[in-house]
Amino acid sequence: QMPGFEIFGDEERKEVQDVLETGVLFRYGFDAARKGHWKARTFEEELAKRLGVKRCHLCSSVTSALSIALTSCGIGAGDEVIIPPFTFVATMEAVLLAGAIPVFAEIDDTLCLDPGAVRNAITKRTKAVLPVHMCGSMARIDELVAVCASNGITLIEDACQALGATFHGKAVGTFGRVGCFSFDPVKTVTCGEGGALVTDEEELYRSADAYSDHGHDHVGNDRGLEGHPILGSNYRISELNAAVGLAQLRKLDSMLERQRKHKKQLKDALSQCPAIRFRTIPDETGDSATFLSFFLPDEEKTRAVVKGLGEAGVDGVFYWYDNNWHYIRKWEHLKGMKTAATLAADKLGDLPDYANLQLPQSDGIISRTISMLIKLSWTEQDVSERIEKMNGVLNKFF
Ligand SMILES: *Cc1c(COP(=O)(O)O)cnc(C)c1O
Repeated sequence: QMPGFEIFGDEERKEVQDVLETGVLFRYGFDAARKGHWKARTFEEELAKRLGVKRCHLCSSVTSALSIALTSCGIGAGDEVIIPPFTFVATMEAVLLAGAIPVFAEIDDTLCLDPGAVRNAITKRTKAVLPVHMCGSMARIDELVAVCASNGITLIEDACQALGATFHGKAVGTFGRVGCFSFDPVKTVTCGEGGALVTDEEELYRSADAYSDHGHDHVGNDRGLEGHPILGSNYRISELNAAVGLAQLRKLDSMLERQRKHKKQLKDALSQCPAIRFRTIPDETGDSATFLSFFLPDEEKTRAVVKGLGEAGVDGVFYWYDNNWHYIRKWEHLKGMKTAATLAADKLGDLPDYANLQLPQSDGIISRTISMLIKLSWTEQDVSERIEKMNGVLNKFF
């Protein structure tokens, strides 16, 4: 949704070229042949430093990072994990992949988990709360931290869409035991494909690193002789992907600056419209500004405005209520539990009745929500033309 791919340049080419010249596409070992290039490891060090955490593990996607995070926290078969109904489907998939049961709690006007609803959703089987910092901004993370602490529950953050966002100066994604970030092709920073988890816990990091690579402990320089403390799988990232991400990560500050400037211009303009109420952002100064999201008074008006914006040629407009991928309303595969055999839903135990789940508060919010993508590549001219078109549409209705 928030595309680093808009600004690929010589920096990305150089990092990839470094890798191609050594011929070492593998992220571990081959110490002599790689001539000092450790793209995945360097990415991990730089991201950890940037976010103010001790450890970062870069792997093949965030779907795998979230699943590894749950597993590494000891969460699996039969455990309940509370998640929001407004997220990319991957959050729900990752919980199922870890063998755990996704339990949905309402969102509030932050477009993220409602801390009160989370409290009400806790049962004896609840092992984790997995808030998603949607559309560039943050959940009421301080309240969620408190709910988890007082109930002895693990907090794991899906911060895929909020790289660079902060809450009272602390990086979003660093409030829980683990935080996860995606670097897939449409994220602010992209590796092509990739995801990372961050944590301050050394043991947890080691477990995640081993689990991603068949259980290898990565001690010593001979793969045949490495230990395998746990059974694992393969969720490795390649050096080529990491190289692209490394160049992108170094551009993050300039990306944020551009997004924030563009968003402010659009928001100031839309503030003139009395019918619009903006999404609540718990710390406005920490917003990564990848999206501008707002609410209209009712579903009918919202649909009409979305249609009007389309007809006026305003692109990058999202009406999540009709979106197949980001809101539970259209997740027919979940409602019918049409899982691949490996997910073995029938063996998980008592599942919630997903088909008949009622989330009236979330429906009420998402059916009135419009999100607009903030693009990096816009010129001043693009922004002012957009504002003019948006005002044209809104003036027809309000
Ligand atoms: C993009 C995204 C994911 C999935 O990331 P992948 O790296 O493609 O697996 C998960 N959660 C959210 C909120 C996302 O936006």
